[in-house]
Amino acid sequence: MDHFTYRDGILHAEDVPLTTIAEAVGTPVYVYSTATLTRHFRVFEEALAGLDHLICYAVKANSNLAVLRLMGSLGAGMDVVSEGEYRRARAAGVPGERIVFSGVGKTREEMRVALEGGIRQFNVESEPELFALSEVASSLGLRAPIALRVNPDVDAKTHAKIATGKSENKFGIPIARAREVYAEAAALPGIAVVGVDVHIGSQLTELAPFETAFTRVAELVPALRADGHDIVRVDLGGGLGIPYRRANEAPPLPFDYGEVIRRTVGPLGCEIEIEPGRLIVGNAGILLTRVIWRKNGEGRDFLIVDAAMNDLVRPAMYDAWHDIVPVAESSPGDELPPVDVVGPVCETGDTFARERPLPVLDSGDLVAFRSAGAYGAVMASEYNSRPLVPEVLVRGDQFDVVRARPSFDEMLKRDSIPSWIPEIP
Ligand SMILES: *Cc1c(COP(=O)(O)O)cnc(C)c1O
Repeated sequence: MDHFTYRDGILHAEDVPLTTIAEAVGTPVYVYSTATLTRHFRVFEEALAGLDHLICYAVKANSNLAVLRLMGSLGAGMDVVSEGEYRRARAAGVPGERIVFSGVGKTREEMRVALEGGIRQFNVESEPELFALSEVASSLGLRAPIALRVNPDVDAKTHAKIATGKSENKFGIPIARAREVYAEAAALPGIAVVGVDVHIGSQLTELAPFETAFTRVAELVPALRADGHDIVRVDLGGGLGIPYRRANEAPPLPFDYGEVIRRTVGPLGCEIEIEPGRLIVGNAGILLTRVIWRKNGEGRDFLIVDAAMNDLVRPAMYDAWHDIVPVAESSPGDELPPVDVVGPVCETGDTFARERPLPVLDSGDLVAFRSAGAYGAVMASEYNSRPLVPEVLVRGDQFDVVRARPSFDEMLKRDSIPSWIPEIP
């Protein structure tokens, strides 16, 4: 149940017909459901019930301030990977003590901003970063709380571009070297060791890689404690997958993921942090788009829609599948002739689906790309000078534009022409 359902033949977001949003805001537009966001957060809370824990929502999945405020109001912490995300979390009202700073390339300036603004913990990914962080913290008269991100050399069995837990990936410190690096960390004046961190990838559709990685962390912690480190937290990262093809995918449930956590790191007596992103927002959002033309090609028909790869890059970038559904409900007996669903951008990569069976749609019809709440709007660009796609948040029968579509003037105003280039005669 994700609150995008047909009522009276029209696809709704909660109680709002998507036709209403398309008329009010125009297309393309992202639409998110408050009820779904809330439910997904609570599902994790229930999965970890009884364990001392903090759910640090991964801001990079969807960083709209409204989404962050909603998550924060439900009790979430945040996992950020840049100064911009840190500032977003703070602007949404999340206290620094609930913000974890991850990422493989934090700059000294980012470290300073987070230390001065307040931070729960840095997840440190290399020795040079560790030394720099100690210097920055010392210069401010502070000690930076850290976990080292260990790389457990586990195959997450996901798309290569989002697998992060193998030794050949750029992330983390090889787990075999962890004790050595922890010893270095403990000797630094600006560092306070508090925990261990791991994140093996995104869109995982099996629990076994989590179980292997968490088990390696569970074995490491007693060794670190024996070395004299006060390990009070383990951060297990994010990565739980979602069903993109509703018809035939059933990734593990958060409850069962919680059971894996309980039996692997539960006995350590640490505070547990997880950093889910996709599972919370992915199926809480759709991208609403309108058909511009139907074009009958040679042996192929094309549905050219007003959303493009600049608005939703996942199909072009990760060969991702999104279920595509008409806003006007089709009847069970309708023919479903296959079409290629494409955007207007001048690249063949601007293809959302190939030979997708869909009811016959034509100019003006609305369609929704499902499961678009995560890694959708955040990855949007203005390629082909298409103004940044807007976002709408629905709650019951209300909706609000939580990011407006910029006007063409606003888009053009950001550029400037140096005076040494002459005017065009
Ligand atoms: C991307 C990322 C996450 C979130 O991953 P999801 O698959 O969206 O849950 C969490 N932690 C870190 C360090 C990440 O890079």
